Amino acid sequence: MRTAVVTGGGSGIGLAIAERLSKDGYQVAALDLNPPDTGLAPATDVCDRAQVDAALAAVRDRLGPVTILVNAAGTDGFRRFTDLTFAAWQRVIDVNLNGVFHCVQATLPDMLDAGWGRIVNISSSSAQSGQPFMTHYVAAKSAVNGLTKALALELGPHGVTVNAVPPGFIDTPMLRRAEERDQIGGTIEKHIQRTPVRRVGRPEDIAAACAFLVSEEAGYITGQILGVNGGRNT
Ligand code: NAP
Repeated sequence: MRTAVVTGGGSGIGLAIAERLSKDGYQVAALDLNPPDTGLAPATDVCDRAQVDAALAAVRDRLGPVTILVNAAGTDGFRRFTDLTFAAWQRVIDVNLNGVFHCVQATLPDMLDAGWGRIVNISSSSAQSGQPFMTHYVAAKSAVNGLTKALALELGPHGVTVNAVPPGFIDTPMLRRAEERDQIGGTIEKHIQRTPVRRVGRPEDIAAACAFLVSEEAGYITGQILGVNGGRNT
């Protein structure tokens, strides 16, 4: 049975991905600041390489080599560029981009040993559209898309695929918090009217795309950016 690690697996999109992969028959461990109470991995900050290495060692110990990685841990931010501190910029880059670096590097040896692996990076539709007051977040998520394309070329010969899923407008605690703070330019209801499929996205929509991309039958798909956004970005 294959083992998958899902970062950010304690909430929202990451939680839905972890649940879906479990349902599909994988052994799944969540790496999160507040992980679900499975006892598989300790609380982990993806920005901290020592914590990531320790968590992966715990997961390997119980579940064996990790050949599937979904990077869903993320944090947003909302600040006019002229008021953005370098510390705030760095934190958003650290979680959303450097966290991906650490988790990929820490799991890759298992995939290379197996000659098989799947990496899916959850980026953001804002990397396609841009988003005012979120320059740090958009920069980080755009970099994740770029990393995905470059790494796919490097790892293709080793049986490892690397793809990105940029979600748009998914009903999670992150989106609800942004709505409460008036950071999404109106209400979710108002945005639904502008969304071609006329609904807000569900975490399960992202989980379905991930379930496909980590499957055996997606082996010829790599370096791709698969938007899941109800048609808001094409
Ligand atoms: P969420 O409900 O806030 O979930 C994010 C999870 O990541 C939380 O469990 C959070 O833990 C965890 N996390 C944050 N920083 C971390 C760190 N340094 N180390 C480990 N875990 C950390 O948000 P979501 O909406 O599901 O977002 C999931 C991913 O989708 C993110 O990468 C986000 O940028 C991306 N995304 C979401 C949307 C959307 O519409 N919702 C759109 C585009 C992209 P805490 O709760 O303890 O902080």
